[in-house]
Amino acid sequence: MKILISNDDGYRSDGIRCLTSALAEIPEVTVTVMAPERNRSGASNSLTLDVPLRVVQLEPNIYFVAGTPTDCVHLAISGFFDDEYDIVVSGVNDGANLGDDVLYSGTVAAAIEGRFLGLPAIAVSLCTQGVKPAHFATGAKVAARLVRQLLKSSLDRALILNVNVPDLTYADLKGFRTTRLGFRHRSEPILRAHDPRGRPVYWVGPAGRGQDAGPGTDFDAVAEGFVSVTPLQIDLTRHAALPALNSWLAGIDD
Ligand code: MN
Repeated sequence: MKILISNDDGYRSDGIRCLTSALAEIPEVTVTVMAPERNRSGASNSLTLDVPLRVVQLEPNIYFVAGTPTDCVHLAISGFFDDEYDIVVSGVNDGANLGDDVLYSGTVAAAIEGRFLGLPAIAVSLCTQGVKPAHFATGAKVAARLVRQLLKSSLDRALILNVNVPDLTYADLKGFRTTRLGFRHRSEPILRAHDPRGRPVYWVGPAGRGQDAGPGTDFDAVAEGFVSVTPLQIDLTRHAALPALNSWLAGIDD
């Protein structure tokens, strides 16, 4: 099995290093890393279209790109390498990707870009909360277990598994739970500040707290100490709204 590894925290992050070593230990597996050269968290599914992309080979199987997570995976599976990959594993992200986070996440975006490969793509995030050191090795071990399970028993391709791991030692994890995405309250307000020249600047504020975070959700599983595994799809169509919208449009004025 040929695994392409990427992330949105950059190729030097602890999470991707732990993930690479954990996956490389699986006997049937070869790993290649193509990741952004700096932290691109929040890049979502953006592609760089206005400037060319340069790829730097750091080690025989480690490459970095001055681009987004989606750029990295797109390059890797659309012609940079002669090899075909079987799966993309993205992470281990420094921070949860729960509920609405998946819309902004570069970690999830890297996995989404790999959805055309032969196996489900996996995005792994560690639910860090500023406590150091974070347990990236736990997230990496969880990813390796999921990959070994895929080797043993396949799942539909074009599925994206969004995996969130509590920031605990591996022994303290309670197990796996299949979940749906919850959603968050509206995010905290922007933060206003001034630059050294007295001009106003703004920071995007923290994400909101879990609003739909009850049983069955990703928020709840992680809070209970379980690894949350949510199956994602790309179809954003709200199918139930089609008839009402159709009638609404039928009455539109000239
Ligand atoms: Mn990140």
